[in-house]
This record gives sequence, structure tokens and C-alpha cells, in this order.
Amino acid sequence: MTPMMQQYFDVKNQYPDFILFYRLGDFYEMFFEDAQIVSAELDLTLTGRDCGEDQRAPMCGVPYHSAETYIGRLIEKGYKVAICEQMEDPKLAKDLVKREVIRIITPGTLIETDLLNEKSNNYLATLYYDGSSVGLCFADISTAYVSATAFRDRMTEDAVIGELSTYNPREILLNVPAKALPKVAEHIRDRLGASLTEAASDFFDQDAAAGRTEEQFGPEQTAGRPRVALVAVGAALKYIRDTQMKDIAYLRELHFYETSQFLEMDLATRRNLELTETMLAKEKRGSLLWVLDKTNTSMGARLLRQWIEHPLTNVAQIFKRQQAVAELADNFMLREELREKLAPVLDLERLITKVSYGTAGGRDLRAIAQTIAVIPDLKSMLSTLAAGALSEILTDLDDLADVYDAIDRAIVENPPFVIRDGGILKDGYHADVDELRYIMANGKEWIKTAEQREREKTGISKLKIGYNRVFGYYIETPRSAADQVPEGYVRKQTLSDKERYITDELKDMEATILGADDKLKALEYDLFVALRSAVDAESVRIRQSAQALARLDVFLSLADCAAQNSYVCPTVDTSDVVDIKNGRHPVVEKFVEDSYFVPNDAYLDTGERRLMLITGPNMAGKSTYMRQTALIILMAQLGSFVPATSARIGVVDRLFTRVGASDDLASGQSTFMLEMKEVASILSNATKNSFIVYDEIGRGTSTYDGMSIARAVAEYTAGRKIGAKTMFATHYHELTGMEGTVPGVFNCNVAAKKRGEDVTFLRKIVPGPADDSYGIEVARLAGVPGEITRRAKEVLAELEGKEGNPGRRAKTAEPADEGQMNLSFADAAADEIKEALRKTDINTLTPIEALNLIYEWKRML
Ligand code: ADP
Ligand code: MG
Repeated sequence: MTPMMQQYFDVKNQYPDFILFYRLGDFYEMFFEDAQIVSAELDLTLTGRDCGEDQRAPMCGVPYHSAETYIGRLIEKGYKVAICEQMEDPKLAKDLVKREVIRIITPGTLIETDLLNEKSNNYLATLYYDGSSVGLCFADISTAYVSATAFRDRMTEDAVIGELSTYNPREILLNVPAKALPKVAEHIRDRLGASLTEAASDFFDQDAAAGRTEEQFGPEQTAGRPRVALVAVGAALKYIRDTQMKDIAYLRELHFYETSQFLEMDLATRRNLELTETMLAKEKRGSLLWVLDKTNTSMGARLLRQWIEHPLTNVAQIFKRQQAVAELADNFMLREELREKLAPVLDLERLITKVSYGTAGGRDLRAIAQTIAVIPDLKSMLSTLAAGALSEILTDLDDLADVYDAIDRAIVENPPFVIRDGGILKDGYHADVDELRYIMANGKEWIKTAEQREREKTGISKLKIGYNRVFGYYIETPRSAADQVPEGYVRKQTLSDKERYITDELKDMEATILGADDKLKALEYDLFVALRSAVDAESVRIRQSAQALARLDVFLSLADCAAQNSYVCPTVDTSDVVDIKNGRHPVVEKFVEDSYFVPNDAYLDTGERRLMLITGPNMAGKSTYMRQTALIILMAQLGSFVPATSARIGVVDRLFTRVGASDDLASGQSTFMLEMKEVASILSNATKNSFIVYDEIGRGTSTYDGMSIARAVAEYTAGRKIGAKTMFATHYHELTGMEGTVPGVFNCNVAAKKRGEDVTFLRKIVPGPADDSYGIEVARLAGVPGEITRRAKEVLAELEGKEGNPGRRAKTAEPADEGQMNLSFADAAADEIKEALRKTDINTLTPIEALNLIYEWKRML
């Protein structure tokens, strides 16, 4: 094997799980299996290279300057990449160029802005399970955000899954026992799009890992914290250091939290409420975030998303946010001015990270300067405001004049992309730079003067000074003038009619001129790096200001949204009441703007009115109404105003929404099993302080099974063990009989008006059970031919003629107690079929009618 190939394999063997980008001149090359994978995934040509063996090594490559895009696409597809660089200048290397892996790129440890979504965080999660407790850490190294929590006494897999779903990490690192948690492993595999890494045991070694955390963050931030959480953080630190291969001192803040600080929601609930993306299309448009996001900066956009993903449960904290939103919402002019000021603000959080990693260039420093330049004006605008959260922003905003001046004095307005080719520093910044530049700029002039002098000295009027790459500056004379050439001219080249010479003096000049270029580049680079380190030294202040800018942007966004959409400030308290007047669905109202969104009231408490049973035809607006109530609660708890004319929200600890299987198209597994799993998880996790939405559960199975399950779930939810505020939409009209027999249950329906064959949806929630499901009318509205709907009516009439039939007029049936109900469910179908058989007159049946009847019986069964 060639020496180079041996070197390649030495490196590759250390990184077997990574695609190795091996630097060769201006390219990164991949070999063998890596080459085959990359050429197939990225559609690159597969070539070959001599490797000393019989067969050529399969090879493919990408130019080094555009490598980032290719790396990004590989990461997107779930691969991990190791970058192997040339560690010395190939021109100067004696033997084989030294090469080393300088960075590992994995989905959870990206800092390259081009590979990141600017409007969302990119989390690495670590999960440590010691057999009884779980420690979790979430780190976004591009913004230096590290948080951690622990589940000790009440560790449940559901709780762990809930947290993972909240952060939605790109990459998860687990210890071996954690990977063996069956539900967690299944959830990560099936429902989260994260890449999974089972770490070598030394990552999670208890003492070492906890020690790393204590060392990194200091005793003030770690003392008394749950050990499992410290271990999870320590594993993350090691993984980050191993991938970045740089000092990570810039990670300074560790946010410990308890899940009870936030409104807890599981993955199904988050998806169903379409918080940050729609269920089907997975688009932002149509989500709550889409309505609320009027931010001006990517820092603000990320923070708003975090707030939506983590609504609060502490009334005082919620109130503090509301006050800030309220003050800005009341002040249109100020909002306009603030928005204008925020317009040039760039992603300071990620820029400062690049500074800390030493990857920031001249443009990045200029971007930092451009951003902090707005701070003084912002501060004076904020100085008149009263809300506590806004004055905190004012305090946290450092005007950073020193940093601005340092950058502005040094860096040109439009610096070049690369930092090693000079042209980055302003004139007048450094005397040596100025002098070298003078020499270079005047080099031409200098040569011209020398040329003139030599002409005069020699009397050769056609004498010229030229330059080529082979022997630098030379004096050229016509051959005819050869005898006029003075002593000291050394002949270098003879052409057909010219001679070329050099002189000592010329070579001295040359050294100065050409050396100046190299010297200048090196000096500029050193000065730039020094400046970058000086900026890094202020990174704590800069980061604090960046976070303050993000908060300001979020408050501004919520205020804009409140003002533009006529939202109202909800009263949030610790009562058990949800009382909304004229509530609207924040997203749906945007889509019916040309018609009219019908507002609706909602009242629930944990006493007599805790389970609202909602009936009404399909398309009436049941799902919309329930979701809007859940969203209003969530918006209130994140500190936003809400779409209503008034609202009082008693803080909710957990929010659940469960949609009947056939409605849950998004998950792609619309199985009854999944629906029941989710229901089971609600039943075991909901408390009296939770808010639950059940949207037509029980659909995924046969009518009687479904109805029985729906009723049992409703009873249990309203019952002593949970007693949570619940909205329960059902197409089983039989369930309306629970009102009056099951404590806390009350009926509502969405009004619809039937006129002849037509049905008009009034979209208004009214008390009492629905009197008709209008299924056939809706079918007609939808364009099902009259022949069919007429026939359907006949069938309906026949069915309704039967005794004991739990058809759609079941509201007239007596509310049976459970025992009886189960009995009648079990026997009803058989009875119905028996009865139908008895009534059938075989002598008058046509074959097609017979077939239809059999079909119908089969369906009943
Ligand atoms: P259901 O769950 O009862 O079948 P949906 O809640 O899905 O009905 O509502 C069906 C459609 O009716 C929605 O997509 C929306 O366009 C419209 N809609 C629902 N509620 C309202 C309302 N309050 N005002 C106006 N349009 C509404
Ligand atoms: Mg619905």
C-alpha cells in the first residue's frame, strides 16, 4: 500500500463510524466504502486512485471550499463526518504531509450556521439511567444553552418521553441501561427523528461525568443538584469536547429545571395542537407559531419557539410576561420604533459562539459590530418603560461600546471572506500594516523609478524592468545593446533579440516588495486573531445582551400579535376555573377571514362542570372548539394575550389532547392500538389540575367496543381518581345520557339548523345534547348523489324502527347503568340481525336486494 493510503487507514480505523473527509490539496477525498456511500447519497462521480494494491481504491471528492454544503446533506441524511486536515504546508513537507482529524460533525453538535436552522435550536440530548432514576441533559452548543433535569422518585418512561418530545433533539446519547428502557427506546425509534448514539461506558462513568460537570460550571451551579442530572451533563460535555476538539469554556450557564415549572404536554398533544408545525404538511404555516411569530431576529424567533414549547405554570412569572406584552401592546409608536431598530440585528448568539470557537471571520466581527451598534438607542427607548421584564432587559443590555469601538477601528466595512489573505484591517489601525501596504502600493512606482534610473545610467533607451515567476524582477535590453550593459548586470536569460539580467539592487528591492505581501498577510492575520480573542474575552457580556435582545424581540412579537388580532389579556390565577368569553381559534380564524369565525364561550371547573360532552354533526366545529380552548390555555400560560373578549385561566399542570384513530392521519399509524396507548398514558398521568381534550376516541374499533370504551374513559376521567377539566367530543349520542348520572358531566352541542334537506352549521356551542347527527345531510352537502342519500334515509328509518337499537336517536333512550349497558351492547347486534331476518320476505326480494341485506348484516356483526 502507498504511504498515503497507510496514513488514510490509520486515521480511518480510529473513526470507523464516520465518513472520513481526507484533505488532499484543494479537495476532501473519500475512499472505499465511504466513497461508495457518498457518491450514491450525493450523486457524485465515483473515480479511483492508485493505492499500491492491484485494484484502484474507489474514490470521490468535493472541493474544500464548498465542503460545508456536502457535509450538511450527509448530516441531514443521518451520517456523521470526521474532517481530516493537512497539518502542514504541503510545499514545505519533507515526506508525507502530516494529517489529523480536527473536527467531528454530528447532527447534535453543529455550530456551522449554514447547517443550522436559524429559527430553531439544535439540541443534543443525553440520557442517563441508573436503574431507578433518570438524568437528562439538553445542549444547544451553537447558542451555549445547556439545561438539565432529573426524574427520581416518580421516574416514569412517559415522563422521559415527554421531555424528549419537548426538546425534539437531533441526536441522543444514551447509556446502556437507558437504551434498554423499552418504551423510551421504541419512542425514540418510531416517533422522534433523532439519531441515536449508544455511548461508550466512559461517557457515563458516574464520578468522572459528575466531576466534569462540577469543574465546568462550578459549585454555585451544581451543588445540591441531582447526581443523575450531573452525570448526564458530564456525558454531554465529553461528547461535545470530543467532537469539537476545542476548549469549551464558553459553556458557562447550566439551567436546572423541574418539569413541573412548565405546562407538560406529550408528543401527541404537541402535534395535535400544531404548535410549531402542521400535522400533515409539517409546515410552519398553519401552526400557532406561525400566528404568534412576528419576531425580527432569529434569536427572537428561537426564543419564541422555546416559550411555545415551554408554557409556564407559575402565576407570578406569567404575570410578569403579560405586563411587558401589555405595555408594548398599548404603545404603537414605540413598537414601530423598536422594530425599526431591531431590523439590522443579526444572530449575536451564534456569532459569539463562532468567536469562542475561533471560527469567526472578519465578516462575523463586522456583523457583531452592526448588531451591538443598535443597543444604545434601544436602551434609551426602553428607559421610559415600567414593566419589570422590560426593565430587566434594559439592565441586561450592555451597550458594549468598547467592543464596538475595537471592531470598528480595526475591521474594514466589507471584509473579505477568508482571513489569511489580508485586506481585513483598516488603514491607520496599525503602523506596521500601513508601512507594508505602502511598500506594496508603491512597489510599482519604485520599479518605474529604478527603470528610469537604469536607462539614464546605461543610455539604453529601450531598457525595461519586467517580472516573471521563474526569476522574479529582471532588466531587459535589446541584444543590440549588449555592449552598453554595465558591470554588475548578471545575465539570466537570452532570447532571440533580447537579453535579461538581474542586479543585486534589483533583487533587494524584490525581496522587500514580495516579502511585504507575505508579511502583511501574516501580520493582518495575527492582529485579527488577537482582536477576535479580545472580543471573546467579553463574550459573557455579549451573550447576556444577545439574550436580552431576544427577549425584547419576543415581547414585541407577542404585543404586535395581540394588537393586530384583537387579543385580550387573560386573568391567570391558581383557581380551578377556565372561563372564556367569545373565544376564537387563533389559527382557524386566519383561514376563514373572508367569512366569519364564530366565537364561542367555554366554562369548566373541577366541580359540577368538569367534563363537557360535545355532540354535533360532522363538520360542525367540535374539534376546532376544543383545540381553541386548549390553545387559549397554552397561550395564556406562555404569557401571550388570547383570542377572546375575556378569559380567566386557572393554571393547568398538564395538557392532553387525544384524537380518535381515524382522525390522526399524521402519525401514519392510525391504529386503534396507538390510540389506546395514548389514552392509557392520559389516564395514568392526568391530575385534577390537567386539561384534557378527547376528540372522538373509540372510533378505531367496532361501534359497541368503541362506545363502551369511550364511556368508561369519560367516567374515569370525570371520576374521583382524576377529575380533570375535560372536553369530550363524541359521535356516540348514547353517551349524552351521562349527564345527570355521572357527576361533573354536562352536555353541549354545536348548533346546526336543518331546513328540509339542507343543514346549516351555526358553529355555536349551546347547552344540551345534539338532537340529530345530520350525517346524511352532510353527505348530501358533500355531493353524495341523491339516490344514495335517499336510500340512506330509508335504511335509517328501518333501523330506527327497531327496538333497543342504539341508533342515532339514542338520546331518547334511558341512561342505563353500566352493567345493563354492557349487556345490551353485547347482544344488540345479534338481536338486530335476528329481527331483520325475521322481517325479510324472501319471496319478494330481488337478488341485488338480498345481496345488500347480507352486506348490511355482515356490517352489523
Ligand atoms: P368537527 O370536528 O365537528 O367535525 P371541525 O372542528 O373539524 O368540525 O370544523 C370543520 C370546519 O368548520 C373547520 O375546518 C372550519 O373551517 C370550520 N369552523 C369550525 N369552527 C368554526 C367557527 N367557530 N367559525 C367558523 N368556522 C368554523
Ligand atoms: Mg372533528
